[in-house]
Amino acid sequence: MARAQKRARTAKPVRRPAAKAGSKAKPVVRTTTAAKAKPVARTTTAAKAKPAARAKTAAGKAGQLVYGFGGGRADGSADMKGLLGGKGANLAEMARLGLPVPPGFTISTEVCTYYYTHGDTYPPRLREEVQAALAKVERALGRRFADPDAPLLVSVRSGARASMPGMMDTILNLGLNDTTVQGVIRETGNARFAWDSYRRFVAMYGDVVLNLKPESKTEEDPFEVALAEKKRQRGVSLDTELTADDLRELVAEFKALIKMRKGVDFPEDPWDQLWGAVGAVFGSWMNPRAITYRKLNDIPESWGTAVNVQSMVFGNMGADSGTGVAFTRDPASGENLFYGEFLMNAQGEDVVAGTRTPLHISDLERENPQVYKQLMGVRRTLEKHYREVMDIEFTIQQGTLYMLQCRVGKRTATAAARIAVEMVRERLITPDEALRRVEPERLNELLRPVFDQDAKTRAEAEGRLLAKGLNAGPGAASGVIAFHAEDAERLAAEGKRVILVRNETSPEDIRGMAAAEGILTARGGMTSHAALVGRQMGKVCVVGCDALDINYERGDMRIGGRDLVLREGDPVSIDGFSGEVYAGDMPTRPSEVVQVLIEKALDPAEAPVYQVYAQLMKWADKARTLGIRANADLPEQCEQAIAFGAEGVGLCRTEHMFFGEGKIQPMRRMILAETKAARQEALADLLPLQRADFEGIFRALGGRPLTVRTIDPPLHEFLPHDHDGQQEIANELGVPVEKVRARVEQLHEFNPMLGFRGCRLGIVYPEITEMQARAIFEAAARVKKDGIKVHPEVMIPLVGHVKELELQAAIVRRVAGEVMKAEGVKFPYLVGTMIEVPRGALTAGAIAKEAEFFSFGTNDLTQTTLGVSRDDAARFLQPYVAEYEIYGRDPFESIDRDGVGELMQLAAERGRATRKDLKIGICGEHGGDPASIRLCQELGLDYVSCSPFRVPIARLAAAQAALGR
Ligand code: PEP
Ligand code: MG
Repeated sequence: MARAQKRARTAKPVRRPAAKAGSKAKPVVRTTTAAKAKPVARTTTAAKAKPAARAKTAAGKAGQLVYGFGGGRADGSADMKGLLGGKGANLAEMARLGLPVPPGFTISTEVCTYYYTHGDTYPPRLREEVQAALAKVERALGRRFADPDAPLLVSVRSGARASMPGMMDTILNLGLNDTTVQGVIRETGNARFAWDSYRRFVAMYGDVVLNLKPESKTEEDPFEVALAEKKRQRGVSLDTELTADDLRELVAEFKALIKMRKGVDFPEDPWDQLWGAVGAVFGSWMNPRAITYRKLNDIPESWGTAVNVQSMVFGNMGADSGTGVAFTRDPASGENLFYGEFLMNAQGEDVVAGTRTPLHISDLERENPQVYKQLMGVRRTLEKHYREVMDIEFTIQQGTLYMLQCRVGKRTATAAARIAVEMVRERLITPDEALRRVEPERLNELLRPVFDQDAKTRAEAEGRLLAKGLNAGPGAASGVIAFHAEDAERLAAEGKRVILVRNETSPEDIRGMAAAEGILTARGGMTSHAALVGRQMGKVCVVGCDALDINYERGDMRIGGRDLVLREGDPVSIDGFSGEVYAGDMPTRPSEVVQVLIEKALDPAEAPVYQVYAQLMKWADKARTLGIRANADLPEQCEQAIAFGAEGVGLCRTEHMFFGEGKIQPMRRMILAETKAARQEALADLLPLQRADFEGIFRALGGRPLTVRTIDPPLHEFLPHDHDGQQEIANELGVPVEKVRARVEQLHEFNPMLGFRGCRLGIVYPEITEMQARAIFEAAARVKKDGIKVHPEVMIPLVGHVKELELQAAIVRRVAGEVMKAEGVKFPYLVGTMIEVPRGALTAGAIAKEAEFFSFGTNDLTQTTLGVSRDDAARFLQPYVAEYEIYGRDPFESIDRDGVGELMQLAAERGRATRKDLKIGICGEHGGDPASIRLCQELGLDYVSCSPFRVPIARLAAAQAALGR
C-alpha cells in the first residue's frame, strides 16, 4: 500500500549570534532594576508612563510601521508576534517587564508584505519613521548614528513570526566606518576592540548583504580564510591574539576581497549600511532556503518578516564583558536547572562558532557573582511571566547585564513532557495546559530505542568507543557515514540508514539532516545549529565532538590519537543520551517506556521518563472524549496496544492471518478451487486456524471490543506469480502447474484495487464470509465460557450499496445465532461496515438501517474520492504537495478535509439521522494523525483506531482535540 513515507519535519531555530554592541552606551536600564524586575504594571518605570500614551502604544497606532522599545517601555508586546515577529515582540515584552534591553525598534512585517507587493519598494513613510525611531534611541543613549565622536552602533536582525533558519540573521556593529571607528577608539581607548568590531562587521555585511559566500561545498568561508591566513602569518592560534594593527589590516583586506569578488565598494555611509541591511533581511524572506524551510514547516509566505534594529552592547570589551545563551531549564532532559553557555570577552558569534569552547553558565557565578545573581532573577521573572521555558541571549558589557533576546525554548520531547508535568506541580500551569504543550507526534521520542548496554560494553572492550561529544538529541542511531547533506539524502534514498557527520551544520543542511537517522558534529555546543535543529527534528544528535578530524576533500575522518580512518559509507553508531560515538553498527534496545510497558523488563519506579509519560497519559485520558483503539491482527499486537492504552481493536485485518504458519496452503486451495464443494473443503481446513487466532485475540483483549473485518484484498494477492512458486503449489495440490498458472491468469485484474475485493468476495463466495463469521463467533463462545467477556464486531469492507451489506449481514447474523445456540452461550455482538467508497458515504442513511456501526476506511476513501491510486501515488504526490501545494499535506497521511472530510461529515450526519446511536470510528492510517484526529473530534466520531505504537500519540492528540488546541 502506498502510504507515503512520513517525512521528518524540520523545525527550528538557528541559534546564531546574539547582537551585542553599543560602545560605552549608558546602560539603558540599570542592572539593579532588572534584578528586581516585576511585571510591567508594577515597575516604577511603567507606573510613571502616562496612561494615555501606554494605552495607545500597546496596540500600536493605525498604519504604524516602526515600533520602538527600551527604557522600561515599548510600543509592542509579546502578543504582537504577527506584526513584530517573535524577536521584536519579545524584545518589547522584556522592555515592558523592566528587564535591561538595549533600546531599538522593530520594522513591522507589514513592511515586508508591502515590499513584496510593491515591486521591492518600501512604504513612503518608512524612511521618516525609521529616522524618528533612531532619533529616539539616540536621545536615550546620548549618542548619534554616524557621529564621528560618539557613534551609535546598531545590530540588524530578521525576526519572523516563527523562528526561521535560512534567513538573514544578524549584522552586528553597523554604523562603523573609517571615521566612526576612530571615534570608538577615542571613546574607549581600546583600538583593538574597535578594529575587532569593525572587521566582524565588514565580514558579516560582506556575507549577508553583499553575498560573498563560499561557492562550493568544499570551499571555506573567504573571510575565515583571510583570518586564518592572518593568524598563520602572525604565528598565533586564537583570534584574541591578533593585535589592533592586525585587525586594522584585516578590515582593509576584507574590503578588498569584497571589491575583488563582488565588484562593489563596501558602503562607508552608515545610512547606506542600514538600508542595505534592511533590504537584505526582506530579501532573505524569499531565498531558497527560507522557502524550503517554510514549506517543511507549514509557514505561510504571507506572514513576512520583521526587522529589528537595536543599539549595540559589547561582550568583547575586555575581561569584564561577555556573552551567552541559556535556557531557563535543561532543554534536553527537562531538568529544572539553569542551563547555558557563555564566553567572556566575546561576541555572540563566538559562542556558537565552536572556535572557543564556551563555559557552563554555573561558572559565571564564579566569574561575576553579581551578574549571575541578576541573571537568575531574569530567569525567574521570565518563567513566571511566560509560564514557559525560555531561551535567552544576553551580553555583559563591562560588568552590566543586557538582555538581547528571549523566546520560548525548543526542547526534546522528553524535556517537553517533563517540564509540562513539573510546571503543573509548581502550579505554573494546569494539566490541560501541560497537555497542550507536548506535540503528540514527538511522543515518538519517548518511545525511541536506546543502545543495548551489553553491546556498548562489548564495543568498548573492542576499542570501538571512538570519542565523546555533547548529548544534544536523545536516542540511539546506527548508520553509514555521509559527510555532506546531499550525500545523506542520496544514501537515505538508497534505503540506507545514515549518520550525517560534519564539522558543524548550517541551514543548507536541513534536508540532509531530515534524511539522516542521526547527526554528529565536531564543533559547536548544545546551542549550535546542529543541536537545536537536530533536537527539534527529533534526531539522535551528538555535537561538539572535537576528537573528530573531518576532511571534506578527502571524504574521510580521523579520530584524535588513533590510526583509524573512517570514510563515507563506513558504519558508525551514536548515542544521543550520552554523547558517545562508536565505530561500527550496534544493536539498539527499546526505550524506557517500551521496556516498562511492552517488555515489562523495567520497574516503573526506576523509570523517570516513563513516570512523566504515564502522568501525561493519565491527564490525556481524562481530557479526551474520543475512544482510542488499535489496528492489530495478532494477540501480541493486541497486548502491545493495550499496554500503550488502547481500549479495543478497531481493525483486525483477517487476511493478514492467512499468511501465518500453515494457513497459506488451505487459503490457496480455497482460491484455486473450481467448485463450491472444493472451496468448502479448503475453508473447513481454514476454520480451526482462524478460530484459534480469534481466540488468542479475544483472550488478549480481556473483554475489550474487537472489530474484525471480513476478507478484503483481491484474491490474487495470495497467489504466487512466478513459475517456481506456482510449481510449488501445483506440487502441494497434486495438480499440473499449467492449471495453477491458468487460474492465476484468470484472477488477474487490470485495477485490482477497484476489482474483485472487499465485500464483493463474500457476496460471490458467501461460504468465505460464513467460515469467517463462524470462526469469530465460535472463538468468542469458547472464550466466554472461560469467563472472559467478549464483544465481537463484524465489519464488512468496501460497501457502496446497502444491499451488499444486507447480504453479508444476513450471513453473519445467521451464523451468530447458530453458534450461540449450538454452544449454549450468549454474548453481545454488532454488525457494521466500513465507509470507504464515496457511494457508501453518500448513501450512509440507507446503509445505517443495516449497519450498527461505521468505520471510516480513509485509506480507500482517500483513494476513491481523489481517484488517486494509493499504490502509485508516490510518484506525483510529492511534487503535488511540496512543489505545487495542491494539497497542504499528503492526503494519505493527513485527511483531505475539503474532499474526504466533507464526505465523512455527510456520512456521519446521514448515518446518524437514520440511527441515532450509530457508533462511528476511523481505522485508516489517518487514525493516528493528530490533524485528522482533530477532524474526527469535530465530526463527533466515537473513536479512532491506529497502529499500536501510535496509540500514545492518538491519546494525546485526542486530548488536545477535546481541549480545542
Ligand atoms: C482503509 O481503507 O482505510 C482501511 C483501513 O482498509 P485497508 O487499508 O486495509 O484497505
Ligand atoms: Mg480499505
